[in-house]
Amino acid sequence: MSDPVETLVTPVRLLYDWTATSAQAEFLDAIQEGRLLGERCPVCQNVYCPPSGSCARCGVETTERLDVADKGTVVTFCIVRVPSQNIEVKLPYCAANIMLDGSNMPFIGLLQEVEAEDVHVGMRVEAVWAPKSEWGPTFENIRYFRPNDEPDIPVESLGDWV
Ligand SMILES: [Zn+2]
Repeated sequence: MSDPVETLVTPVRLLYDWTATSAQAEFLDAIQEGRLLGERCPVCQNVYCPPSGSCARCGVETTERLDVADKGTVVTFCIVRVPSQNIEVKLPYCAANIMLDGSNMPFIGLLQEVEAEDVHVGMRVEAVWAPKSEWGPTFENIRYFRPNDEPDIPVESLGDWV
């Protein structure tokens, strides 16, 4: 008898075509120019980034587009200590939900240039962009976020996100 199988590595690859909605296409056009495009709900006034074309809360179409900042506040985060074949970031690393200035919906970003134990809710961060010559219609234009020198935002002012 051979030894029992305890683990099995199964490579999985999924290729698919995805067609951006008009709101998503506008976002991709903007990020190609170094801007982060959001949308404002005409009912609740929340600003979402990236735009989807509708407000999930109110169920109405959103047509007002506006730029949001490429800096914001960490509202939640996760320290990743488990390696993955598809991620080349040194462990441990931080995936953070970042409330970009001017928006009401967190934006998920990789946080770097900070030790995992120093990451905290309320930390101010900024985007680190790839060189402009590499920009395309992709989120990959932003390499990661890093802490900036701005003072923390008080946790109690972050509302329901913390
Ligand atoms: Zn709304």
